[in-house]
Amino acid sequence: SDGDRVPALVIGSGYGGAVAALRLTQAGIPTQIVEMGRSWDTPGSDGQIFCGMLNPDERSFWLADRTDAPVSNFIGFNINRDIDRYVGVLDSERFSGIRVYQGRGVGGGSLVNGGMAVTPKRDYFEEILPSVDPNAMYNTYFPRANAGLGVNHIDQDWFESTPWYKFARTGRTTAERSGFTTTFVPNVYDFEYMKKEEAGEVQASGLGGEVIYGNNAGKKSLDKTYLAQAAATGKLTITALHQVTGVAPASGAGYDVTMEQIDERGNVIATKVVTADQVFFAAGSVGTSKLLVSMKAQGHLPNLSSQVGEGWGNNGNIMFGRANHMWHPTGSKQATIPSMGIDNWSDPAAPVFAEIAPLPAGLETYVSLYLAITKNPERARFQFDSGTGKVDLSWAVSQNQVGIDMTKKVFDKINRREATIYRTDLFGVYKRWGDDFTYHPLGGCVLNEATDNYGRLSEYPGLYVVDGSLVPGNVGVNPFVTITALAERNMDQIISTDLA
Ligand code: FAD
Repeated sequence: SDGDRVPALVIGSGYGGAVAALRLTQAGIPTQIVEMGRSWDTPGSDGQIFCGMLNPDERSFWLADRTDAPVSNFIGFNINRDIDRYVGVLDSERFSGIRVYQGRGVGGGSLVNGGMAVTPKRDYFEEILPSVDPNAMYNTYFPRANAGLGVNHIDQDWFESTPWYKFARTGRTTAERSGFTTTFVPNVYDFEYMKKEEAGEVQASGLGGEVIYGNNAGKKSLDKTYLAQAAATGKLTITALHQVTGVAPASGAGYDVTMEQIDERGNVIATKVVTADQVFFAAGSVGTSKLLVSMKAQGHLPNLSSQVGEGWGNNGNIMFGRANHMWHPTGSKQATIPSMGIDNWSDPAAPVFAEIAPLPAGLETYVSLYLAITKNPERARFQFDSGTGKVDLSWAVSQNQVGIDMTKKVFDKINRREATIYRTDLFGVYKRWGDDFTYHPLGGCVLNEATDNYGRLSEYPGLYVVDGSLVPGNVGVNPFVTITALAERNMDQIISTDLA
């Protein structure tokens, strides 16, 4: 509450925040997490915590009057619908050139994401983060992250036989016939649970059309893993529905953290200041960058590095669909959890890692949907606008053209081989590419540039960055394993040298 003093305060409860909270509490340090979203632990009137993708209600989107689904259209119809404004679990935050999807709630992105748990290619990791010892990462911190997150692998015999992964097998067949390599992708969704869903023994979630608005079962989101372990120490407090708006040096030691308490309709009902000895920024690439850029510009943390706000990228995300022939169905049954990718990353002409994504519409669509991660080198910056008092992101839609060009090199070839075409009805009317949004915001407070080599904001002892803003714009695979492993590495160093 207002006027409290705490040893450690963590802003946000996604991957970076959950790792920080676990390692701090295990070191015996009482820790408070402040999270703007709600705690997703209480069912609604339908008995479920989350709503499904085919019947979104107010729980789907963060303070919005209408849903804003990534696949917005289908054969000429916009499938979005009006909803009541509520602190829903998925935010599509709009900047002038891009919408950034993010999870809102205790668990952050882990509540809404596809659970794909991919360790990056070592040579690319070394290229993007040359200051980080790769042996420590690949021998210690990536294994630690995978264990902590509960990563598991699909039973390949089951994959080959179940109707629920027909879409992935079709995507594989068409890719391999054009000479591309596919690979199984590990996940934090419990694939053994999914088998029981198929057998009708448990509540369906991954086989029940649930993912981007939350999974009611099956998924090991952070509230079930890192955060549960941190809570078990007895040293963790989680304050939900509180949005941090400011951090500044306190008059004595430590930092004053200003926060607004909101109700479930988003109304501000109280403003509080808590003083903390250490503050860990874990509000995600966008949340942390916005806070730090505005604190620097408004003179609350004026000495922050000029690199704060720089180096933001969209991990090269491009979403798109191909229309298969009728002899290549993708299935009326589709698991919501992806399990396979097309790996063309090592081709310098078309560096693409494309997830074969489900489109669980409940009917046969013949669509192969993909989320491509491309080696798009374009970057943008966060800037404070003194007129509006808000932080903008300089990204322009045109910066995704290079990602589209890489994607086309792979999928034009598949289309030629299969005599198929791209769908033009999924992202608007006659719009082929989902190129105006990202699931993978990265950067804005890059490691060893805006911070020191362990995420310290060195100009302000006791301030640390621990989330996806440390990753320089692109990691070549889905990012949460990297974010988790880097947080593990940095917390190890911070706890043993700064907090011992
Ligand atoms: P986040 O997980 O975003 O956590 C930040 C938290 O801080 C949020 O809970 C937020 O509400 C809170 N917050 C923000 N600002 C404030 C503030 N001012 N005050 C208080 N709290 C605040 N990645 C993968 O690796 N595999 C996937 O399969 C995958 N699928 C995805 C699917 C979707 C639909 C989306 C949206 C993302 C997906 N991602 C996936 C990306 C992944 O979820 C993110 O990279 C990851 O969550 C980022 O972790 P983080 O710790 O940086 O921040």
